[in-house]
Amino acid sequence: MDDVFESMLAGNEQHARSFDDRFGGLQDGQRPEAVTVCCSDSRVLQDHMWGTDDPGHLFTCGNIGNRVVQRVDGDTVVSGDVLYPIAHTGTETVVVVGHTGCGAVTATYDHLTDGLEEPPGIEHCVDILAPALESGMENLPDGLDREGTINHLVEYNVDRQIEALEESDHVPDDTALVGVVYDFQDIYTDRRGEVHVINVDGETDPETLRESSPEIESRIRRLWTY
Ligand SMILES: [Zn+2]
Repeated sequence: MDDVFESMLAGNEQHARSFDDRFGGLQDGQRPEAVTVCCSDSRVLQDHMWGTDDPGHLFTCGNIGNRVVQRVDGDTVVSGDVLYPIAHTGTETVVVVGHTGCGAVTATYDHLTDGLEEPPGIEHCVDILAPALESGMENLPDGLDREGTINHLVEYNVDRQIEALEESDHVPDDTALVGVVYDFQDIYTDRRGEVHVINVDGETDPETLRESSPEIESRIRRLWTY
């Protein structure tokens, strides 16, 4: 047996021991408070970043580049993974989580600048991200190095994902939409693992956000205002 999987199974044994009594109220259904859409990157810990490891709180979607959309018959629509908890479990909060140094954003940037090729499955993901990044690339501030460029585009991508949710007829208007960036590379602050709020219901201006949401004032921080 594969060594990696064997050690994963040992980890699951510990998990099962400590979670044995934590599914009591969840046997017959779930009512997650929020759906999170995170990059699949192994450094982005979907439940732990919110300090929660209890089942039932978060409906977690993961894909490369924290996309909320998919293509159906040539149209770009909000993905079923994101819509499911909104439509079926009463979830009214959606949080899109980008992260510093995102490989999917980097691959899309390289694809748009140098036409780099990827296997078809990755190309498909890159093709869905590309329209979200293209207009941002045209308006980047001058003088950014590659790292700065990617991290600006990470914010831009989160903004576009929130925009797609806002524009969808299938996401009720009163759904709370929040965009954040998870930083483990000391780009925003030196507190690794902190999320920085960059977008609330489509509003991206930090000053306006601090005025409208003073209770989270210290957590609102952007690299790029445009
Ligand atoms: Zn990523």
